[in-house]
Amino acid sequence: MEQIYNFSAGPAVLPREVLQQARDEMLDWHSSGMSVMEMSHRGKEFMSIAAQMESDLRELANIPQNYKILFLQGGASSQFAMVPLNLLRGKTTADYINTGQWSAKAIEEASRYCAVNVAASSQDKNFTYVPLQTEWRLNPHAAYVHYTTNETIGGVEFHWIPQTDVPLVADMSSDILSRPLDVTRYGLIYAGAQKNLGPAGLTLVIVRDDLLGKPLSGTPTLYDYQIHAQNDSMYNTPPTYAMYITGLVFAWLKKQGGLAAMEKINITKAELLYGYLDSTDFYHCPVAKADRSRMNVPFTLKDAALDGEFLKQTQQNGLLQLKGHRSVGGMRASIYNAMPVAGVAKLVAFMKEFASRHA
Ligand SMILES: *Cc1c(COP(=O)(O)O)cnc(C)c1O
Repeated sequence: MEQIYNFSAGPAVLPREVLQQARDEMLDWHSSGMSVMEMSHRGKEFMSIAAQMESDLRELANIPQNYKILFLQGGASSQFAMVPLNLLRGKTTADYINTGQWSAKAIEEASRYCAVNVAASSQDKNFTYVPLQTEWRLNPHAAYVHYTTNETIGGVEFHWIPQTDVPLVADMSSDILSRPLDVTRYGLIYAGAQKNLGPAGLTLVIVRDDLLGKPLSGTPTLYDYQIHAQNDSMYNTPPTYAMYITGLVFAWLKKQGGLAAMEKINITKAELLYGYLDSTDFYHCPVAKADRSRMNVPFTLKDAALDGEFLKQTQQNGLLQLKGHRSVGGMRASIYNAMPVAGVAKLVAFMKEFASRHA
């Protein structure tokens, strides 16, 4: 069978070895006689899976002991509310950086709980770049500064970490673990799993422990980080199967050589695709070169009338889910950790051939 490559933005491709291992362990995990889906989250088998995944993640991302790792549900979208509910801590305002659609959603939700100061925005150029920190207007009274490290829809990524006096909060849903991570620069990091970590259903939160324990009055129990931290993410039933698969992904990342090795591969893939995009005027990427995402590569065809044909033929060639987000049109190739270099090479070869046929 022809090799298929899946460029979906999320839920997205998973490492083949991970899916094969999950298949092999589906009916009987480690001679327990049970599928992971059938295990009590408080039994010794699942407790060992959860402990292993946490220690693998701590090792991979070098996460200090004063940071709690929480395995939650509700998606990154739930964090848009959970962050202000927990991190305002008596203050009434927070700084947000607006670099695109996910930032905007975070801002909208936070506005329900505090006065949001949009300290910088790239709306003036249709969200195609990251505003320099020298242009930010941070509010000295802000409880925290929130930004989106990678705009999954716009394909804009921070390749630097902002410097702030108050806790820095990052939505890393679509680029977490794509490169080394200096957790100590952050107060809180969150990510929905279904882009670069695992299946949908799991939401990862990494939070410095001194920020816990002061939720806004009226905060629902399940939206209080402290409750989850005190109960090892087992206050209620966690998303056990999604955690298991994500744990297999962490083990796979360690086997690849960790985050520095992944970054090298991700740079290779990004250079391959952007290098070609910049060499032709048949295709176009709107994002400023310095801020281009290594994970999500949006591009358009010079002649949008060919979009349908392009999508049909990529599909026929085993290159799946390249259609751009409904709000921006064109194409988007998501090339997360689990996308091999060979997948990007095959896409670029197809794009060249398609361009020469339609020149
Ligand atoms: C996908 C995504 C979200 C939303 O995730 P859900 O799990 O659907 O809530 C938020 N932020 C970013 C950057 C994303 O890519």
